[in-house]
Amino acid sequence: MKTIGIIGAGQLGQMIGYAGKRLNLDFVFLDPSENPPAKAAGPVLKYNFDDPEGLEKLAAATDVITYEFENVSVTALEKLDKETIVYPPTEALRLAQDRLEEKTLFQTLSIPVSGFQKIDSVADLEKAGLELGYPLVLKTRRFGYDGKGQCIVNHRNDIEEAVNQLGPRALIAEQFVPFDREVSAIGSRNVSGQLSYYPLTENLHREGILRESRAPTDAGNLESIANDYLKLLLTHLNYVGVLALELFVVDNKLLANEFAPRVHNSGHWTIEGSVTSQFENHLRAILDMPLGETTVLGAPGMLNIIGAMPQDSELLRNPSVNLHEYGKEARTNRKLGHLTIVAENPASRDIQLKELEKYLTN
Ligand code: AMP
Repeated sequence: MKTIGIIGAGQLGQMIGYAGKRLNLDFVFLDPSENPPAKAAGPVLKYNFDDPEGLEKLAAATDVITYEFENVSVTALEKLDKETIVYPPTEALRLAQDRLEEKTLFQTLSIPVSGFQKIDSVADLEKAGLELGYPLVLKTRRFGYDGKGQCIVNHRNDIEEAVNQLGPRALIAEQFVPFDREVSAIGSRNVSGQLSYYPLTENLHREGILRESRAPTDAGNLESIANDYLKLLLTHLNYVGVLALELFVVDNKLLANEFAPRVHNSGHWTIEGSVTSQFENHLRAILDMPLGETTVLGAPGMLNIIGAMPQDSELLRNPSVNLHEYGKEARTNRKLGHLTIVAENPASRDIQLKELEKYLTN
């Protein structure tokens, strides 16, 4: 029996752990939090994510190490990589941690992106406004998540306030994309190089936070284009594990926004809605096992539960609803769980999701 080490013991770690039970795997997590969700799936070493002693203990107790969130120290991982096996590759994490590096990588691979520029000063943003036009989305290059660390610059007059709000950190300005919808492409690559893709998922965000995902989406030829982009990324990075690429659809064309070197919130529907979940395929990939089938079962839909758990017991009694509660303390804008349904067809899924939204407060 193999033991997997996971840096981070949040809900993604928890769901990787649950998926691993099917594969007869054991788990050890590293996380400084008091009561992390993944403690339900294995012991947690209570250390900071970059604590050398904690990482050493994790390496000693496990066969392969992976991570469930992006803000892991690349330096600490590089060191760990010399002692044990770490997947996904640290280079993929390094690039994903910096929006400028990430967008430059997309350009290098000829994956289309909206115009962007590096911003270090008010003068840089003035220049970006002239060259890229308004509106612009100003973002911190590092450590942004769920819409945090970004703001819209509509006009030359907004520049100073925007730079003051987000600076003095390193920033990037992107052209605002008037997208028709947002989608994510999720794929996996195992150590031997086998590739596999999930069908394109359509995502709805509010205030920068993912609220709903539906798959498969009626994407026509966009799905195979998105898979080409995934293939470019997975092979170029010599990637191992699950990778999620977030894209905008505008005028029936795809523009890449960002990628996550990990399992992704927009792939939670794969637990009930796919033959093999993204969590199982991540484990299969890092253990060099054959990747599982990614065929969709029916018409899955997922709703995030944010800020407060639904109190209505009717929801729990509904046999079509798969309720996942992560075991986290309620807090504004915090992801506390999700619901998945697998309907017979997209029309029925959309009706059911609308009904279920009523139980959610956020
Ligand atoms: P991000 O942190 O880059 O994933 O951004 C969070 C959300 O903000 C995205 O899912 C979009 O809804 C929105 N957003 C980010 N960048 C842009 C952009 N350049 N144009 C339009 N909307 C954006």
